[in-house]
Amino acid sequence: MPTIALINCAKGLTDMVLTPAQQNIGLVVIKQALESAGIDVLMLPEEPVDFSSENLDEGIRAMYFPIFERSHDIAYVGMSVMSETMWLMNMHAQTLRHIVPEIPLAAGGAAFRRELSLERKGLRDPVHWTLEEGIVDLVNVGHAASFVQLCKTCDRDLPGIYHWDDGLQGSGTSGIPELDRLPIGMGESDSIRVVLRDVCGNACDYCVTYSGGFAIDPSIAVRDLRAHLDTHPEHTRLVVSDSNPFANWSYYDDILTGLQGRNQHTTTYLEPTNYAHSPELHHTAIRKHRLDRMFIGRDTVYETDAAFMGRRYQGKSKTQAMLDTEAVALKELIKFLKAEDRPTQLQIHYILSPSLTPEHGIALVDEMMEMDALGNDTVDVSIGVFPLLPHPGTRLRREHIEHIIGPEDYLSFRGYDIRWRDSLPGSACIEVIGRARPVDMNFQERYTAARAELAGMRAAGTYRES
Ligand code: SF4
Repeated sequence: MPTIALINCAKGLTDMVLTPAQQNIGLVVIKQALESAGIDVLMLPEEPVDFSSENLDEGIRAMYFPIFERSHDIAYVGMSVMSETMWLMNMHAQTLRHIVPEIPLAAGGAAFRRELSLERKGLRDPVHWTLEEGIVDLVNVGHAASFVQLCKTCDRDLPGIYHWDDGLQGSGTSGIPELDRLPIGMGESDSIRVVLRDVCGNACDYCVTYSGGFAIDPSIAVRDLRAHLDTHPEHTRLVVSDSNPFANWSYYDDILTGLQGRNQHTTTYLEPTNYAHSPELHHTAIRKHRLDRMFIGRDTVYETDAAFMGRRYQGKSKTQAMLDTEAVALKELIKFLKAEDRPTQLQIHYILSPSLTPEHGIALVDEMMEMDALGNDTVDVSIGVFPLLPHPGTRLRREHIEHIIGPEDYLSFRGYDIRWRDSLPGSACIEVIGRARPVDMNFQERYTAARAELAGMRAAGTYRES
């Protein structure tokens, strides 16, 4: 049987360090499905790679040349790509074309969506663009079942597998690969990472998560997690990467209960409106299952911004009443955690919408500063701030395409990147708030300065007030 090389071009690019492929849970899923079919898999990179040097191309070449030189039976290279890392896929592809031109290159992941309504307007979507530019030979759209099948049979005529042959060839979306055990990815040193179920139900317009009914049988999850944690006592943290576990908590409660305390620490996401609806359920879960690191997508404080970005709860745009209730609830959550007196980390994330007026920007900054100040030595509250990114394939991009800078410029799509034209008032606010992100001064000082700048913009009356 040939070998398949899977390259992580998607995860861990903070500080320009690309994390080992074993930390990319999507690649771990593919690896497991391939290995179940008797196919050997090479996961790359094996160690963290620092891409902060000037000469990325040389770095990639030095990393892969010895590996590909000694592995003569690689049938395909598969790269996992996000829209923010298309540039990295491009660099990998160029290098691999040079050192192993005979090996077909495939790419898949959240970056690749068909956008037929935009294609009808003459815009190439990422699948069309990547293949027409000849960057890779094959693109897998959707989950990875078809890529796994392709590796088994070399048959390209599969749903969700696209290639270029005098035009874009292919159709449909790939399904979920069959799995006979729980894929377990590696996290930071002491942690493991799992995706158990992909049902969120909020249907935000900017969401890039593929839905599709993925759910691991709880008995399999318990069996495999217990086996792993029993044999790897160094893994003391379980990271549940599902985006909205509290929407279906009984499923998670069953699994975590089945671990019988083997998970000394647990990381989860927490949806603030779910919390506001059922604080007791959350408190019980936090105590019972040692939830001591939580990511909270607060995102916005005004309903007009929620409506622009399409921030929804159970399919409906969040109203002002819901957002106001969330703010109160989050303060209650911090109070509860302080009373529990156990070390806990809360990361509260905000998204900067191009619909922001200076007035709304000030309210957002005020809340961020207030939340930050509520932390103490035991409950570490940190604030994450991100501009709204119009990812390919999202309703957000489709509906606001005329406001997006370079809608076909996939290679310059990066993390903290303002993709919105000045025709929207919020671009200036995003820039002001974004300038406060570097961490060489303390949080309160940085955002006090940003607030003053926003107040100046409001006073100048350049922008329409809410
Ligand atoms: S909350 Fe919204 S953005 Fe987050 S996973 Fe759910 S639908 Fe996607």
